Amino acid sequence: MFKTSITILSCLLAAFASAATAACSSKSAASGSADNAAAPADSAAATAAAPAACGDSIYAYVEAQTSLGPRTPGSDAHSRCAEMLRQRLRRAGAEVSTDSGTGTLADGSAIPFANIFGRFNSGAGRRVLLLAHYDTRPWADEDPDPANHSKAIDGANDGASGVAVLLEVARHVASRAPEVGVDILFTDAEDSGLSAPEGADPSTVARYEDSWCVGTQHWVRNMPYDAARGQLPSYAILVDMVGAGGAVFAKEYFSMRSAPHIVSKVWDAAARRGYGQMFVQRHGGAINDDHIHIASVGIPAIDIIDAGRPGGFTPTWHTMADNIANIDRGTLQAVAQVLLDVLYSEKARP
Ligand SMILES: [Zn+2]
Repeated sequence: MFKTSITILSCLLAAFASAATAACSSKSAASGSADNAAAPADSAAATAAAPAACGDSIYAYVEAQTSLGPRTPGSDAHSRCAEMLRQRLRRAGAEVSTDSGTGTLADGSAIPFANIFGRFNSGAGRRVLLLAHYDTRPWADEDPDPANHSKAIDGANDGASGVAVLLEVARHVASRAPEVGVDILFTDAEDSGLSAPEGADPSTVARYEDSWCVGTQHWVRNMPYDAARGQLPSYAILVDMVGAGGAVFAKEYFSMRSAPHIVSKVWDAAARRGYGQMFVQRHGGAINDDHIHIASVGIPAIDIIDAGRPGGFTPTWHTMADNIANIDRGTLQAVAQVLLDVLYSEKARP
């Protein structure tokens, strides 16, 4: 993903505390925050109903991906990762399908993709779609050392972290389903895009913008929902770069345009857990990411993305330092817990 030309990042410096380290005990995660005591009764009940996310579990899901090496589309590591994700979804009880094909990059070259979709509780009429990209960027083109610009990144944060958070959600849904149906989409060929060069001919800009999120652009044209019969999910939440220490999730521009009510729901859930310094109450930049394409077909969609720091993205973004050493269990756990709180507070009927 990248920031679009209408980026409106605030320069507000956020002071953030590190999130609690995962303990993964069997006690309810609802008991840990002083904010819970002050929450309204209905919200507190929703929080108490959710299972407890486990930072160690999610960290292991990140490691299972990074240990394969960079998962650039077309690579063996990518194929192995795709198969692992299909297996994990199946083992969790999902009906799994793959949407594969070939897309086009900014330079006109072809890129293969395979979007992996897992559906839980297919009989549920009301559904929520969760998504994250599992491919990793072939080039560390933001690395401070130009010698690394042509090397592939591990994508521990940019790729693996979002997938890992959704695998944690799948683990819990498998053992105790929420009232709503849950769909998990692992998108592909998200991160091989190029930004338009300075002064580029405006007629070429769309070609650059469309070189990102290639898999999702295809998926929405073939999505497994009958929109004409009103079978779209109620909303979609994208998680991208959700594993770094000191993460700051501001309210992303396109998310606010597509689904401000879902942004509020998620950020309020975070506040109830005491994660208000991670999920900050301010507007963020505009990010070209998978959620834009999901929203384009009528599904309200938001992006939880670490782009709210003074410098924008996570410092390791598109560098060789985006590796397992820079993954923080507390951030992973916080994001997964917020997703679980939201999912388990939803009713079968709105
Ligand atoms: Zn990226």
